[in-house]
Amino acid sequence: MVGLGRDFGPVRALADVTMSVAPGEIVALLGPSGSGKSTLLRICAGLEEATAGRLLFGGADQAGIPPHQRDVALVFQHYALYPHLSALDNLTLALRYGRKMPKAQAVARARETLDMLGIGALARRRPAQMSGGQRQRVAIGRALARRARVVLLDEPMSGLDAKLRVELRVEIVALLRRLGSTALFVTHDQAEAMAVGDRVAVLDAGRLEQLDTPDEIYDRPASRFVATFVGSPP
Ligand code: ATP
Ligand code: MG
Repeated sequence: MVGLGRDFGPVRALADVTMSVAPGEIVALLGPSGSGKSTLLRICAGLEEATAGRLLFGGADQAGIPPHQRDVALVFQHYALYPHLSALDNLTLALRYGRKMPKAQAVARARETLDMLGIGALARRRPAQMSGGQRQRVAIGRALARRARVVLLDEPMSGLDAKLRVELRVEIVALLRRLGSTALFVTHDQAEAMAVGDRVAVLDAGRLEQLDTPDEIYDRPASRFVATFVGSPP
């Protein structure tokens, strides 16, 4: 992304964000509430238009390409599963209608993905019959089942207790690695960002303050904001 920006009327949600992410890399997007993290993901997914700058995937300009034609999958902050469908059907439906995949292939892919997330045994349960953590796995599975090249995760573990967050975070990262996905992982938790990201992008008020490895960010924060936010020693 080059000089990416987004205004909502007088509100500058994102300003002049330039970064490139390598294939297979996981970048954690870290910033306080309102810093533009979700806006950045929504632009990448095609759900929001940038008002400045350009977004390229593998050199191809994404301007005007609708969400379903982009090679991206998005896991929302507030995931929405179909309540009347089983876990398996939630995934299968997304593949059949989103990806136009034949039924047998969609079911096989859905099963394989639920197995990868350790919830294969729950395939027939509806969301209401599962715990919050299990539901979250289904939502993540629904996004990963597409095997999109780019995976966008917006606080995929919000609402879970600390122990479950760590567990699920480790599994998600392992799975992204196994699938070779390129990922942007949004969080406002600095420890989580440091643990997940090959590099961490720190956003403040829509601006990219720093993009570096976790060690660099911690040892050499580029601004006072970054230092305070990641808790570097003075
Ligand atoms: P959080 O951690 O709370 O999810 P965030 O970093 O994801 O925050 P964004 O949702 O990207 O923040 O919002 C960035 C800024 O843009 C905020 O000031 C927000 O109020 C504004 N904003 C986002 N979406 C809209 C919209 N549709 N209309 C108007 N303003 C918006
Ligand atoms: Mg957000």
